[in-house]
Amino acid sequence: MEYLKNNKLIKYLKEIIKRDKISHSYLFYGDEYGIQKEVATLFAKTILCENKDFFCCSCSSCEKFLGGNHPDFFEVGKQNVKGQSFNISDVREIIEKSFVKPNESKYKIFLLNDVQTLFGGAINSLLKILEEPPKGVVFILTATNKNRVLKTVFSRCVSFFVSTPPLKDYLEFFSEQNPNIKKETLKEVFVLSQGKVGLFKVLLLTPEGEKALFFSKDLFEVFLKKDELRFNSILQKLEKDLNLIFLVLSCFLKRMNIFINNLKTENFKQIENFYRTFNLVEEALVNLKNNANVLLCISCLSCKIFDK
Ligand SMILES: [Zn+2]
Repeated sequence: MEYLKNNKLIKYLKEIIKRDKISHSYLFYGDEYGIQKEVATLFAKTILCENKDFFCCSCSSCEKFLGGNHPDFFEVGKQNVKGQSFNISDVREIIEKSFVKPNESKYKIFLLNDVQTLFGGAINSLLKILEEPPKGVVFILTATNKNRVLKTVFSRCVSFFVSTPPLKDYLEFFSEQNPNIKKETLKEVFVLSQGKVGLFKVLLLTPEGEKALFFSKDLFEVFLKKDELRFNSILQKLEKDLNLIFLVLSCFLKRMNIFINNLKTENFKQIENFYRTFNLVEEALVNLKNNANVLLCISCLSCKIFDK
């Protein structure tokens, strides 16, 4: 449990599962891109686990859970790492399902992610069911921004802050949970994430992150080949997606940093040129953050980099 750096919390959760003192609703909140969803999922899995063991993967309940087909576990808002709001029809469906008895476990668990995105009728319906949940039902909620969660949600749930662990500790947990991701990819993303769990998750789990990995690699290669035309055309392609440009340029900087540190050359002119480019990209990032014209900004960047 050491590597999740939430030892006290996990110890407490273990204890209530062991003593079978499960409450009907919990809220786990933490940083944006924090690990509250992971902790909430582990908690749900362990409540259902036949061995009540946080790291059991072998009982029939855990096998179903990990295979995504446990009949007493339902998750809403799972796909999007950025947090996906679910709407009133999802809440209605949850309420309907919650009145049907558990299939094979003592409990029926609903994991609702990013409840800070809920409002209006959806949150009102959810509040009602949280007030008087059917017997055997456990609602586990997660949220990224505590201040955006209604006080009335807090008052109905047992709430916990989940702290984000250092990336090196999180990596071990992540690779166990995602055995299908290649070791080389994990290593690459770990290095590019600059110690940030959030960036690590964005790069590995979002379509935007996947594009950023690809384009930053491409961009760095054409930069090394001094291919201004191609460099410019890659950036132009991203023009309409400012978030992606930020990600690509940040990864580009990290790639450059690694490259400079591994350089075997004593050629000062060459080293100077790499640092010059590094500064130009950083400057472009600042300008983009200050709402500079995107097209102008990236065109200038290409010109300045290749202008000797
Ligand atoms: Zn188990």
